[in-house]
Amino acid sequence: MGQDALKIKANTFQFFTRNPQGGRAKDINPDDVAKFLQLAKENNFVQFVAHAPYTLNPCSDNPATREFAEMVFKDDLERMEMLPGNYYNFHPGSHVGQGVEQGITMIAGLLNKILKPEISTIVLLETMSGKGSEIGSQFEELRQIIDNTQLSDKLGVCLDTCHVYSAGYDIVGDLDGVLNEFDKIIGLERLKAIHLNDSKMPFASRKDRHEKIGYGTIGLEAIIQIINHPKLKKLPFILETPNELSGWKEEISLLQKAFA
Ligand code: FE
Ligand code: FE
Ligand code: ZN
Repeated sequence: MGQDALKIKANTFQFFTRNPQGGRAKDINPDDVAKFLQLAKENNFVQFVAHAPYTLNPCSDNPATREFAEMVFKDDLERMEMLPGNYYNFHPGSHVGQGVEQGITMIAGLLNKILKPEISTIVLLETMSGKGSEIGSQFEELRQIIDNTQLSDKLGVCLDTCHVYSAGYDIVGDLDGVLNEFDKIIGLERLKAIHLNDSKMPFASRKDRHEKIGYGTIGLEAIIQIINHPKLKKLPFILETPNELSGWKEEISLLQKAFA
């Protein structure tokens, strides 16, 4: 992963901790960890983002699914300590009809179970598009999760540009307004990373379909404003655009040229 990142001139990256659809994670070889840490240091990598599997749902109505979420989350956080001080991002969850309040209670409940004062990882709540019964499409919902979590200093937020646009935050027409609202409700100091994606879907559609940079409804101009915004420009930007390595390489080169 580190090598691939270098090849495409990235200085951060995101990876799934296991199959995105769930399942067991591979054992970690300590030699690989040491090699990676060395490479990251030599090339001035900033924090990277580990992504939890999509199937991790702390507020499912199925006890087995909630148990799976707890098992994976706990296991991933333990493994993250081999690479201290990075980010673990997860989709807060889908309440599947139990209601937003109940969902938030269950999400915070899991966080209260597994966060420990000694961990060095910051756990990121991802802003969601609001498809189905997804929690986290409104800044207020993320605020409530944070408020209900005892060790909330371990929590941050990852803002996904495709998701917030689909959720009805107009980062194209009023980026400053959206960031002010984020600051007012959550606090910009919680914002730790950006998922930089264009969107295939219209504004406020509550749909989650990523598009290549510059080919979607957000568009290149707005994306360039985002990466250069004084309140955002120092954050790690992660591309989740539908590409292979060569496509990401082109996007990184395009964005680096536009980065003032
Ligand atoms: Fe995600
Ligand atoms: Fe994302
Ligand atoms: Zn998405």
